[in-house]
Amino acid sequence: MSELLTRITQELESLGEQGLLRCRRTVSRKPGGWCEVDGRRLRDFASNDYLGLSLDPRLIASAREAAAEYGAGSGGSQLVVGRSPWHARLESRLAQFESREAALLFPTGFAANVGTITALAGPGDLICSDRLNHASLIDGCRLSGAEVYIYDHDRLAELESCLSTAKQNRRKLIVTDGVFSMDGVVAPLPELCSLADRYSADLLVDEAHATGVFGRRGRGVAELLGVEDRVAVRVGTLSKAIGSAGGFVTGNRLLIDWLWNRARTQIFSTAAPPAACAAACAAIDIIEKEPARRERLFSLSQRLRQGIAALGLETVRGGQGPIVPVILHAPRSAVLVARRMEEQGFLVGAMRPPSVPAGTSRLRIGVMAVHEAEDIVDLLDALEKATTAELAV
Ligand SMILES: *Cc1c(COP(=O)(O)O)cnc(C)c1O
Repeated sequence: MSELLTRITQELESLGEQGLLRCRRTVSRKPGGWCEVDGRRLRDFASNDYLGLSLDPRLIASAREAAAEYGAGSGGSQLVVGRSPWHARLESRLAQFESREAALLFPTGFAANVGTITALAGPGDLICSDRLNHASLIDGCRLSGAEVYIYDHDRLAELESCLSTAKQNRRKLIVTDGVFSMDGVVAPLPELCSLADRYSADLLVDEAHATGVFGRRGRGVAELLGVEDRVAVRVGTLSKAIGSAGGFVTGNRLLIDWLWNRARTQIFSTAAPPAACAAACAAIDIIEKEPARRERLFSLSQRLRQGIAALGLETVRGGQGPIVPVILHAPRSAVLVARRMEEQGFLVGAMRPPSVPAGTSRLRIGVMAVHEAEDIVDLLDALEKATTAELAV
């Protein structure tokens, strides 16, 4: 065996011993918050399809029509031939939806973060990045070559002292998730906006888990917290509540022109298929017209949080919205409890390092607006049974 394969074999064995090995499985997602795994029908509490839109007939019909007219693939980057009428339509729809001057599509949300951060900051600049930020923000920071300062959002005095001692003429960018994807906690955007104003920094908010979910009109945490006009760069994904695929940035016209010219992940990567854009357009219509989905999602999530507290299980304090963690600490405990949940008919995520910090492995329960109130009751029952039995460590 080559040296490379020998080393990989050892490292895979070591991941296995730590309970960190991940297996691949096939899931068929079904309407109404169901899915099929290994021929069994399960309640899907593991997806990010919070509004249940990915299986909505209106999105599917819209995607089907666009594919019939413009093809299965986009044929190239937006810059060359990949910008179909649906890409143009979706960009103006997104700008209008978020009340920004302009929007730019990226192949994925991951690409949007990496491409945007590397286009906005470079060597000599300073990026302040929340410790719990998503991997794509982290990778964007690393790749930019800027100095990166990691802060904790519950200790903003430290962030302030970093910003106040940074040289005046340095370009400063603060980057944060709108809602932290493993904790379900919202970022302190008003405080971050004030710090950005005071120290001439710009704020980038990644609304991946918040678009379509948070805020009265579903525009995200910036809307919820009343700071939409103070956030310079808003990143979103079409792949979560919007139920399709692709990423986007909204902001002022100059920002978008700059990213169009400089964001390498959209210049050198094939645009999302037209069908994905058409589905996303249909989703935004639904998000605007059917606020009841959001209300239902929040009331189901609230019930789940209360039930988890009543069971005496550990969660993350201050959470809101559909991401509900149950902290189990050891990776093996998370995997074991997730398996017991599955035996009882519920698919939930078992999150382990590197997705979460060491010692905080957890179940990540994702509520959907298409779930029923009694699903939450049954889920809590199953959770009680799954966690009262012995937990492996
Ligand atoms: C999922 C996610 C992304 C990436 O979006 P994709 O469209 O799936 O590539 C970016 N940021 C956060 C916070 C996410 O949770």
